[in-house]
Amino acid sequence: MKMYVFDNGYQSEDRTFMVAGSSTADVNDKNRKALWIDIPIQTFLIDHPEGCILFDTACSPHHATAWPEFINLVSPYTVTEEQTLFARLKNLGLTPNDIATVVISHLHVDHAGNLSAFKKAKIYVSDVELTTTVRNYVVGDDLDVHVPVDIEAFIAARLNWRPVMEDEKELEIAPGVTILNLGSGHSWGMLALRVDLGNSGTFLLVADALYMRENLGPPIRVPGIIHDTVGYKRTAKFLENYARKHGATILFGHDMEQFKSLRKPPEYYD
Ligand SMILES: [Zn+2]
Repeated sequence: MKMYVFDNGYQSEDRTFMVAGSSTADVNDKNRKALWIDIPIQTFLIDHPEGCILFDTACSPHHATAWPEFINLVSPYTVTEEQTLFARLKNLGLTPNDIATVVISHLHVDHAGNLSAFKKAKIYVSDVELTTTVRNYVVGDDLDVHVPVDIEAFIAARLNWRPVMEDEKELEIAPGVTILNLGSGHSWGMLALRVDLGNSGTFLLVADALYMRENLGPPIRVPGIIHDTVGYKRTAKFLENYARKHGATILFGHDMEQFKSLRKPPEYYD
């Protein structure tokens, strides 16, 4: 089994989205400026003997025209042709139809953007995340950073969904690959993926359950984009303890410093 880390470009945004209060003014600096940072957009391909598994699907290639305007204003996405998810797969000799399984951490704009292309895959997603996204879309309720263009595309694609139910806390989907169902926190329902590799050890792909190392604190520092603060802190503590117990390395969702240090294709973890 091999694990590849894909660089799918970056978004630029105010750092307070990642760590709330990270540029808070004080008496010595009453007009402190916002910090504008670049955050990596990353996906993971697990080349497994039982079939390829993809964790997250990055941003839509139609971001500039199809995203709601406020997202292009506050979190513009920059990607080159070779950085797109499809180009990264092609580099390994793969097309979307070669992917047997997709695990979606949550359905936000920067994690589920190309999901509709994976028509032959079994799609694992939190049941709560899927039902709330579709419900809010059809009712016209708050979609946060779940975007209509992605929702419309994945409904129209008639995908092979496998919702992960609330009582399925740990779900092994292939030998050495296990979904952790984290529940609500950053979004309505979050999934992480544990990958046990023979040489490289155990990794926890946690996506936005922990954007950056800094979110772990101590004390735990919540992000600016959050649905359930209590659930977020519960999840952060759970992941920290779980990683310690299993000797796992946490791969944060958008930590540029960590991301730069990771191997990229043609290198891999095995
Ligand atoms: Zn998110």
